[in-house]
Amino acid sequence: MIYFVGAGPGAADLITLRGARLLAEADVVVYAGSLVNRELLASCKPTCKIHDSSHMTLDQTTSILVEAASAGKACVRLHTGDPALYGAIREQMDKLDEADVDYQVVPGVSSLFGAAAALGAELTVPEVSQTLIVTRAQGRTPVPEREQLRELAAHGSTMALFLSAALLDKAQEDLLAGAYEEDTPAALVVRATWPDERVYRCTVGTLAQCAQNNNVRKTAMVLIGNALEAHGTRSHLYSPAFGHEYRAALATDQEERQCE
Ligand code: SAH
Repeated sequence: MIYFVGAGPGAADLITLRGARLLAEADVVVYAGSLVNRELLASCKPTCKIHDSSHMTLDQTTSILVEAASAGKACVRLHTGDPALYGAIREQMDKLDEADVDYQVVPGVSSLFGAAAALGAELTVPEVSQTLIVTRAQGRTPVPEREQLRELAAHGSTMALFLSAALLDKAQEDLLAGAYEEDTPAALVVRATWPDERVYRCTVGTLAQCAQNNNVRKTAMVLIGNALEAHGTRSHLYSPAFGHEYRAALATDQEERQCE
């Protein structure tokens, strides 16, 4: 069996309990060396064979995993954050399907959430934004035409940009061509949850400049939207005026007015 495991965003204790157990039991580990925290590998068995995939091709990682799994070994393919986001796991799973090798995916904490935590942000603040767009700016990897940043920016929702720190001049232009304003809150979180995490708050109008001034070129999450700085809003869920399955409405007139 091969387990695709989400390593979390950086801090070694942000892997799931399941992921940590599988890592400790693994006979073979292939990890994404460019981003995964090597501290995580300290829990591997002394006999575990550990491979860094950052210098390998898909065929090379696949053959290591297929060979080991076919010999009955426990394998972990360790990806940064959550494997389902920009983890290139589809192509790996296709290869494993072809080879008739079983696999499972173990989710992880995406760097998106590591970054939101660093900012102390709720990405879905009631009446500010109830939508999170997860995307990337187009660089060497193309983005489908219908998903161009300019189009997505029309919603003005909260947005997370992966893999885009070096592409912010054009990204900023595209964001401003949509519903975002020069003063819409934005933030860059570099190496979220690592000991050297850096947080820069800026606006959509100063995003590219902020990245340049602070030499931010990689391993950064870009978060955008009014939700980042929205204060004083109230949810229905915890409003005394709002009854639901687990709690009856309790509101006084005054409290009800505050929640409107
Ligand atoms: N699967 C990963 C994303 C891999 S793509 C996840 O769920 O987080 C790599 C991109 O993720 C980087 O270019 C950067 O945009 C982001 N990233 C990964 N780790 C990060 C971290 N600790 N802090 C900020 N951004 C990070």
